[in-house]
Amino acid sequence: MNDKRDCYDILGVSRNASEEEIKKSYRRLALKYHPDRNPGDKEAEERFKEAAEAYEVLRDPEKREIYDHYGHAGLQGTGFHGFKGFDDIFSSFGDIFEDLFGFGGGFRSRRTARKGADLQCKLKLSFLDAALGVEKEIEVPRVETCHSCDGTGVETGFHNETCGACGGKGQIVRSQGFIRVATTCSNCGGTGEIITHPCKECRGIGRVQVKKEINVNVPPGVNTGINLRLRGQGERSSNGGPPGDLYVQISVEGHDFFERQGDDIICRVAVSVVDAALGTTIEIPTLEGTEKMHIPAGTQHGDILRLRGRGIPKMKGQGRGDQIVMVDVRIPTNLNRRQEELLKEFASLEMEERNERSHLGGFFSTKSKSTSF
Ligand SMILES: [Zn+2]
Ligand SMILES: [Zn+2]
Repeated sequence: MNDKRDCYDILGVSRNASEEEIKKSYRRLALKYHPDRNPGDKEAEERFKEAAEAYEVLRDPEKREIYDHYGHAGLQGTGFHGFKGFDDIFSSFGDIFEDLFGFGGGFRSRRTARKGADLQCKLKLSFLDAALGVEKEIEVPRVETCHSCDGTGVETGFHNETCGACGGKGQIVRSQGFIRVATTCSNCGGTGEIITHPCKECRGIGRVQVKKEINVNVPPGVNTGINLRLRGQGERSSNGGPPGDLYVQISVEGHDFFERQGDDIICRVAVSVVDAALGTTIEIPTLEGTEKMHIPAGTQHGDILRLRGRGIPKMKGQGRGDQIVMVDVRIPTNLNRRQEELLKEFASLEMEERNERSHLGGFFSTKSKSTSF
């Protein structure tokens, strides 16, 4: 704070200047260097800020006295922090500016240019739409400018009357001794006009709630709980600020055949004992239609086969998950006589083979079992 210029120098007033002189001088500087008049001018910005800081000190008798005695250093610890930027100045000086300039005099007040509110809505998607991406149209209740009156709030063919309470100025100025206090006119809400024939569509508000149809481009791979952000599709700003955003909350329905696990999808297929034993090729549903899959001979119940890259497209990064196929080996029921005969024959063949094996390797295997290592 030590390299700061002297407050009196900045405002160009003498050390014993009256409050009124200080105010007048600041008003002159603020008008000269106002950002609305000097867009993009860094030098003007600095001067505007400097003047605001000097005025902030000198308009307060207590701070002024401290400053007179101890300079800038004395103000540290008094809560005086200087201004970080325009928003800071405008929010601290809002009332002062109204008093100094009497708003409506060509200055738009920056601190009131607010962003429109964010909106939220829900979107339910089928399993396949979520996995592969889809374009959906949704209806969102949103406040829009009334088309009937173009936002003026006035019925077509009529005009507003000047507010009698404030004479059209939009504010009431009261004087208490030397101090002028300007307050917003409550009769007209600061607009300076009274709507005598309000628009029937919006009842004079100038804005109406509509069901806005919005196209949502759902990227592939979304899952329940994801919020898609649609920039600028939220509520419109009421005073020239940017519109808010729309957040679309996704929920995904289940699927009869597929189950999701991260980027992989899991499914179960039933295979007969014979097919599992001999091996076969089956048709299997995938996200994009059926595909042929080879079941190798000797596949066991519960074995897992993988179709690489047939899962869900990854939302972050490239590639896709896998389709994981769990094999259910089905035991045949309701056998006819011939099938039963064949199975019995199969069983006796198996038995023979087992006996042969134990006969051949019996001595060795029993021996080896009883041998302790
Ligand atoms: Zn209207
Ligand atoms: Zn008024």
